[in-house]
Amino acid sequence: MQTPIHYTLKPAHPAAHLFAVTVTVDTPDPAGQSFMLPVWIPGSYMVREFARNIVTLKASARGKPVPVAKTDKCTWACAPCKGPLTLHYEVYAWDLSVRAAHLDDTHGFFNASSVFLLPLGMREQPCEVELIAPDGKPEWKIATALPAKPITTGISRASARKGAPMPASGPMPFGTFVAADYDELIDQPVEMGTFLHASFEACGVPHHVALTGRMPPAGVDVARLCVDLKKICEAQIRLFEPEMQQAPMREYWFLITVVADGFGGLEHRASTALIVSREDLPLKHEAPHRSKPEKRLNPAYRRLLSLASHEYFHTWNVKRIKPERFMDYDLANENYTRQLWFFEGLTDYYDDLMLARSGVIGTQEYLDVEAENISRVLAQNGRHKQSVADSSFDAWIKYYRQDENAPNAIVSYYQKGAIIGMALDLTIRRRSKGRFSLDDVLRALWQTHGKRGRGVAEGSIEKIAARVTGIDLGDFFAGVVHGTADPDLAPLLKHHAIDMSLRAPGQGKAGEPVPAYFGAKVGSETNGDAKLLQVFDGGAAQAAGLSAGDTVVAIDGLRINAANFDRRIQRYAVGSTIELLAFRRDEMMRFSVSLPAQAKTFCVLAPHNTPADAKARREAWLGPVPH
Ligand code: ZN
Repeated sequence: MQTPIHYTLKPAHPAAHLFAVTVTVDTPDPAGQSFMLPVWIPGSYMVREFARNIVTLKASARGKPVPVAKTDKCTWACAPCKGPLTLHYEVYAWDLSVRAAHLDDTHGFFNASSVFLLPLGMREQPCEVELIAPDGKPEWKIATALPAKPITTGISRASARKGAPMPASGPMPFGTFVAADYDELIDQPVEMGTFLHASFEACGVPHHVALTGRMPPAGVDVARLCVDLKKICEAQIRLFEPEMQQAPMREYWFLITVVADGFGGLEHRASTALIVSREDLPLKHEAPHRSKPEKRLNPAYRRLLSLASHEYFHTWNVKRIKPERFMDYDLANENYTRQLWFFEGLTDYYDDLMLARSGVIGTQEYLDVEAENISRVLAQNGRHKQSVADSSFDAWIKYYRQDENAPNAIVSYYQKGAIIGMALDLTIRRRSKGRFSLDDVLRALWQTHGKRGRGVAEGSIEKIAARVTGIDLGDFFAGVVHGTADPDLAPLLKHHAIDMSLRAPGQGKAGEPVPAYFGAKVGSETNGDAKLLQVFDGGAAQAAGLSAGDTVVAIDGLRINAANFDRRIQRYAVGSTIELLAFRRDEMMRFSVSLPAQAKTFCVLAPHNTPADAKARREAWLGPVPH
């Protein structure tokens, strides 16, 4: 057996946000050992150059310093030496996100891709990570899905895998943890501190929730969170493994950071790191567990559950069923795939669907959430210019690096991908007369690829979907995935007893007057000024010559600010022409804007109960995952 790469990490100066880290290799490359830090973290498709946070670094072997030099932005090369060779370095950890590392006096969090250098040529070697408690914080514990190093010596990893007792799961004291290789290490984030912990079982597998940050004073209803998460997790396990009902991990952690205002998540093989707002959490004194289906969840809490459901779905879809191009990540460069519309978009479709199918939300509640997503997609003209396949490929430079022109130039492979998921599911259900659904395609991918560790080749999802269902879906994929067509949802929804209608945003009900349309997103920076944050293609503002960044100060001679801008526009009749004064840089300019009617992009989905066969189809779609 290869000797493990040995890491140590200590929150050495929490107030200065510094982790002290070492990495030791017993037998360095005789020609000189190099080390690198990933430039990106799998799941977040942007080059972030985590090496910029390494502050000081030196090397030593057998008590003597070893010369070390940087050879590129993320690589260090040591002079030839006899091992063991140790690098000692400090990492500045002050990024309160799910993607990097964060440390202060209240807690620490890290993704190994931000803190642990990879000795080149040793990516497949096992890793041992010794986490050392910070001084003066005896109450700090560890939350991670990384297994603790077994205390009993003499039990080989192989026998451990065969079912020998594993270390108890749950919060752990500081100590040594193990990873089978570097790729596992960077896929197992670690939280340390005095987090709030709760746990539940889903299909027999322990699931843990660690909530870190300052909790709402009224008290978080963790029990309720666990009840809802359990339903969602079990529905997903049963979706992928209807017979065995077996999850693909030994235990699972929801590592949740609570802040005033934040939202996001990153998926991992046996955990997820989430960042949520305090407002999203259910409170103890609020309503008890939902008893009546017509009673809606607080939308903020529903959003939190959707996020958790999304990241959990990735346990299969992207962490195990993976693009072929992600089977062996290039950690120093961008990794291109045209398939994120499937791995992210379909996950976005299933996240809310699993809330409905597990009974956490009701049918109308689900349809309202989907209608909102459809409205968001229809409001953005970038979807006419970029396909979701192209958006996937260019995620690194476009979706992840959006500027003021993004709504005009790009399509979200999440939002449109979710609509494609719904359209594909309903198309398969309709054309197969209810014999197949998108679930069957996912289960097939799980059996033939995910479970066997085989990557999904570019372009093969389209073929697998046709093979599994026996339906020719060529036109569908050519139009909505590789082309820029909108999925034709209305007839598909009608077939499932749901009416889809479109009205203008701001139009109370169908038949009421349609408001005027300015064609820009208006916000404020600091002083309440009406600044045009985005100017939409084909809108009145663009036609009049206004630009993103312009600050509008008056409309028809009356002063305007960000707070009253939209209301003032809406008081004009469609067809009016208005005079605007705006600053571009420090130059005052005059614009004449003719206001057309709002386009009908606001989607409303209404279920109905006739005909009975259509209603039965809707219930089969949104009903419980059979088990
Ligand atoms: Zn995702």
